[in-house]
Amino acid sequence: MLAGKRALVTGCRRGIGRGIAVKLAEYGADLILNDLTIAESDEVVAAVRNLGRKALCISADIANPDSVAAMFAAIKQECGGLDIMVNNAGITADAMSYKMTIEQWNQVMAVNLTGTFLCCQAASKLMMEQKSGKIINTSSAAAFMGNIGQANYSATKGAVASLTKTLAKELAGKGICVNAVSPGFIQTPMTDKIPAEVKEQMIARIPLRRMGQPEDVANVVVFLASPLADFVTGQTIQINGGSYMV
Ligand code: NAP
Repeated sequence: MLAGKRALVTGCRRGIGRGIAVKLAEYGADLILNDLTIAESDEVVAAVRNLGRKALCISADIANPDSVAAMFAAIKQECGGLDIMVNNAGITADAMSYKMTIEQWNQVMAVNLTGTFLCCQAASKLMMEQKSGKIINTSSAAAFMGNIGQANYSATKGAVASLTKTLAKELAGKGICVNAVSPGFIQTPMTDKIPAEVKEQMIARIPLRRMGQPEDVANVVVFLASPLADFVTGQTIQINGGSYMV
């Protein structure tokens, strides 16, 4: 379904990003694999290549405009363009709002919001040249439900959903669809930090009674990246086992 498509996934050395990269490769896409540092020896690289797809590794900090510019220059030179942009990289720096430092606030804004914007901007410039493309951003259930200790994180993820709507309107006439996924509680290194008893309480509040897996998110990303979603733009799709219903 995605044969010959060139897909960039940020923050894909592990977790949801790894799951998305491998799933896109399963459906035929060639991958540009980004993380802060990603090496030929990383497992995700072998996983993509074992599926018979190309994997180009680019280490870059998405929060740094110069790094992003260099990454997209390399994509243009090596791949000639870009068909699918998945803005997955994201971080947390949790604290109660009244104890949160300005550094914690700025750090999360820089990666989750500014980094997503910079990659959307650079990807859209490449996609406008070819008059087609799919951009998929990553919001979070925390944006819609709120989450104690995550004032910075939830604010960035709400902003990503808003950004997605504006970009969808700006880019619709250029042949580019922009959507977002909004994962709930997904099993990754980010959530592995949560104590087991807290996890059990969280799972008890999920109607489908389990944590999500990276593959649950990846399946929706593949749909949004595919021609099946050609009439879908500006949407944020909730993937949360029913814990938050729009
Ligand atoms: P994760 O396990 O922490 O993985 C995030 C990846 O992003 C890591 O490989 C990390 O690299 C990379 N990264 C961090 N900052 C970066 C930067 N500035 N530039 C490039 N790469 C960077 O996270 P995850 O749980 O898979 O989450 C993936 C996305 O889903 C995030 O946007 C997150 O907010 C969102 N999300 C997750 C959940 C969940 O329950 N897990 C729920 C809702 C939304 P390093 O290893 O070098 O730090």
